[in-house]
This record gives sequence, C-alpha cells and structure tokens, in this order.
Amino acid sequence: MNGLMQDKPLLISSLLTHAERYSGQVEVVSRRIEGDLHRYTWADVAQRSRQLAMALDELGLKPGSRVASIAWNGYRHLELYYGVSGSERVLHTVNPRLHSSQIAWILQHAEDEVVFFDESFATLVESLKPLAPGVKHWVMLCEPDALDNTADSAGLLSYEALIAAQSGDYVWPEFDERTASSMCYTSGTTGNPKAVLYSHRSTVLHTLVLTTPNGLGVGSQDALLPVVPMFHVNAWGVPYCAALAGAKLVLPGPALDGASVYDLIEREGVTLALGVPTVWQTLLDHMERHQHTFSTLKKTSIGGSACSPSMQQCFEDQHNVEVIHCWGMTETSPLGTTSKLMTQHQELSREEQQRVRLKQGRPVFGIDMRIVDDQGIEQPWNGKAAGHLQVKGPWVISAYYKDEIDNRLDDGWFATGDVATIDEHAYLQLTDRSKDVVKSGGEWLSTIDIENIALSHNGVALAAAIGVPHPKWDERPVVVVLKKPDAEVSAEEILALYPGRLAKWQSPDDVIFVDEMPLGATGKVLKTQIRQQLQGYTLPDLGS
Ligand code: ADP
Repeated sequence: MNGLMQDKPLLISSLLTHAERYSGQVEVVSRRIEGDLHRYTWADVAQRSRQLAMALDELGLKPGSRVASIAWNGYRHLELYYGVSGSERVLHTVNPRLHSSQIAWILQHAEDEVVFFDESFATLVESLKPLAPGVKHWVMLCEPDALDNTADSAGLLSYEALIAAQSGDYVWPEFDERTASSMCYTSGTTGNPKAVLYSHRSTVLHTLVLTTPNGLGVGSQDALLPVVPMFHVNAWGVPYCAALAGAKLVLPGPALDGASVYDLIEREGVTLALGVPTVWQTLLDHMERHQHTFSTLKKTSIGGSACSPSMQQCFEDQHNVEVIHCWGMTETSPLGTTSKLMTQHQELSREEQQRVRLKQGRPVFGIDMRIVDDQGIEQPWNGKAAGHLQVKGPWVISAYYKDEIDNRLDDGWFATGDVATIDEHAYLQLTDRSKDVVKSGGEWLSTIDIENIALSHNGVALAAAIGVPHPKWDERPVVVVLKKPDAEVSAEEILALYPGRLAKWQSPDDVIFVDEMPLGATGKVLKTQIRQQLQGYTLPDLGS
C-alpha cells in the first residue's frame, strides 16, 4: 500500500523557490573580481536565474546538455548553479587551476556545449578555444562593455546582455529527481580526471542533512562564507544549504588571502566559514600578525585534509570559534562525517573533548561506513585496527561518468582510497590515503599523526610526511616542512617533539625544510610532487 502524501520530486529549483518565497529579502553578498562588494537578495537570485534559464532555452540547449563554468565564488556563478540545473541541464564546474590541456580534455569529455567564465580567465579561454571545438558558445560573466576591453572578444557573448534579453517569466520544470544536476571532475593526481555526476535527489538529500545539527547546524540567522571554491564539489553544498536555511550567503570571489577573507568575515557578520586547512592557515597567520580576533564568527567547518590540533586550538582557544572537522570527498557530495560530541563526552575536560573532535567524526544520517583489510574482511571498531574505508549512501557515487570498468565499487560499497580506524562510538579517524601510506617493517604509520606533531611547533606553516625507501624497513618516514615567514626552526627542535607522543618506529627519521610546498588545485599538499623532489635523497642513517 502506498502512502497518501504528495509526490513532489526533490529538485534543486525547489531550494531556490523556497528561499525566494520565504527569505526573499535575505542578502547574498559577493566580492567581485574588481574588488568591490556586490549585494542583492535571494529574490534577485531567483529572478536572474529564471532569466538565465530562458537564455539557455534560446541558445537551443536541450535537457541534459552540459554547461560548464570556469568561475570564482560569486553571484553570477550562483545563478548558474540554479539556472542551469533548475532548467534540467547539467552544470559542470571546472577547476581553473588545472593545466589548460587538462581543462580542454575535461570540456571535451563532458561534451560541454556552453562555457561561462569569469573575466580573469579570458586568456585561459583563448588557449582553450582551439582545443575544445565541441563548445558552441563562450560566455563571459560580465557587462557587455567589458567585452570591448578583452583582447580577443570575437565570438564571445556577455552574460549580462544574454540574460537582460529575457523577462524571467519562467516556470521551473518538474522532472524525475534522479536527473543529473551537476558534475565535478576529481583532481586526477593519477591518470585522467574522472567525473562525478550528481543528481537532483542526491543534492537535495545531501543539503537537508548538511543543514541539521549533526551536519553543520545552519539556520536563518546564519551568514555562510564558503571559502571552498564553487568549482570544487559544489562548494561543499553551501550554496544550496544557504537557500534551504534562508541564510545569508557571502561569496569571497578570487580574494582568498588572509586580509580579504578576514575583512569579509567581519564586514558581513559571517557566522560559519568553510574551507581547507591551508586557507585557514593563511587567515590565522594574518590575524596573528595584526592581533585580530573575530567578532561574529561562531563556527568553522574544516575538511579536505586533516585539521591539526594546533589549528583547532587556535580557532577555539584564542578566537572562541568552534571547529567542525568533517570528512568527505568529491565522490560523496562531499559530506560523510562530522566530528561532534556525544552526551557521554560532556563530562570530559576541554582538552579531552578537543581530542575527540579532532577525529574525522561520525557518519551523518544517510552514510554507512566500514573498514576492511586487504582481503576485504571487515575490521573491528576499536580505534586501533586500521583498514580501507568504504562508504555507501544516497549521495555516494555509484559509477563515474562514462566509466565502464569500475573497480572502486565492492558489493555496493565505494572504496574511498582512505585508510582509517573507527572507534567503539563510531568515530572515524583517518590515518592516511592509500597511496600516501608509509609502511615500515610491515606496519602502517599514520602520516597524519606525524604531520600534526610537526605542526604543533609554532614556526611550522605546513608539514608533509613522506615515506622514503629503506633497505631494512622497506620505508621510513621523513617530514617535509615549510616554515612560517621569518620563523626560526631547527630540525632538532622538530624531532624533539616526537618522543612521548609516538613510538620511535612511528616517528620521522629526518626533517627536510623546503622554500615552497607544492599545493594541488584544491589547496592540498601534493605528495606526488614532493616524492619526485626527494628522488636521490638519502636517509641520515644510510648516508655514506
Ligand atoms: P581530491 O581527490 O581531488 O583531493 P577530494 O577533494 O574529493 O578530492 O578529496 C577527498 C580526500 O580528501 C579524502 O579521500 C581524504 O583523503 C581527504 N580528506 C577529506 N577530508 C579530510 C579530513 N577531514 N581529514 C583528512 N583527510 C581528509
């Protein structure tokens, strides 16, 4: 027997319609490429997104057509999120930090018909045009007169001209909620990038759970700042979550330096900011130099790489901002776990509570997880046994786009490529990514532990633990360190941090200082490049 409730499909357009009808006056503020702030409301977002949908009709784009964006976090990009997906097309958000040949490959692979891009990527677009012949229209996110200032504007359209020609008198179509809504390629540190294809259903369910207290806990009194880019995993779902919650949305544009992010947080009364640790390190360094603190920020969501104890302490103890440590990946939309306390933790001291919350946390509703050994045997949840992390759920990938041979799905479980422990209260703790694992004397070491200890030194900005070959132990870890500007740090000082915290065999054999840390397109340390740089390096105890 079926229930007798209304059968409304879960569509992305419903999030925007809700924001327009019930929070129409709530602001969306964006830092523009020009540096100034643009402000309007959710009602304006809805009106202009409808105009965009009509413009896409006029360009002849059929349902399911792929539409690419190469853009920073800004209001026009937000309109693409809703206008493209809402009108049954697929928004393909492209990471502009990838190499142009890789971007061209992605555009062709996705079969993008239109590319919308920010003015700052005009030169990139020139190099892409001959490499991506499948693209029919290149639209610059600008006023018509800005095209006159562009070196080669032949064949370019202006976004504002395109939508100004439309009334916005448009009704969002209703269709199957399983329809594809957006796509994002993983950074492809090995081989060609692979595309994750999200659906309306997966996106709306993810948004609902993201908003709950066990997710990020977002309400209509919040002002959200996604520093995480809108070209990466839908900015962790924040543009949707803000609409659902009727919250203010603040978009930082290209200005991701500490001073600009701090200014925006203070000026716009941001309550929750989200980003990867490298971005927060830049912000915290800026604040330390200028002795700033926050007046409105209550929470920060940190994910993408492990949050170190020193970063957690800096946010929480110095600035009174709660850190929500999250784990997720492009293939999981991304939210998988959040680190929140349970009732039994209320009695613990603040330090002990912080230690619990430094783990990657417990699965939100919808996500099921397990750890397995190399043979696929499930490992116990005792906080000690490490295994390969596998997950499943309605916003977890079932297959990559156009990928027939899928070796990452094991009986419905998606193999994340992460190595982790799970404790008796279901807290996940990552020890490594499979490809970054260091195995010494047959035992896995936690590179995350090694890095966190190095980061506890005040003068260390970034740290990466790497395994180097060893004739007896197979591999031994070394820690590669980038100092903070002007900091005095010696290798001995860093090595002295390990005794008492890790066993000798779990501790690094050497410290290598670098002038620059290679960062990937999403702000993560690129260990593949460090490994290449370390070729020819000899461990101290093997020196001639
Ligand atoms: P990419 O593969 O492009 O780096 P993602 O951004 O999807 O793509 O990265 C997902 C990976 O980032 C996870 O598999 C995990 O290794 C790492 N990660 C995500 N969140 C955390 C976290 N809180 N702590 C440690 N690592 C994390």
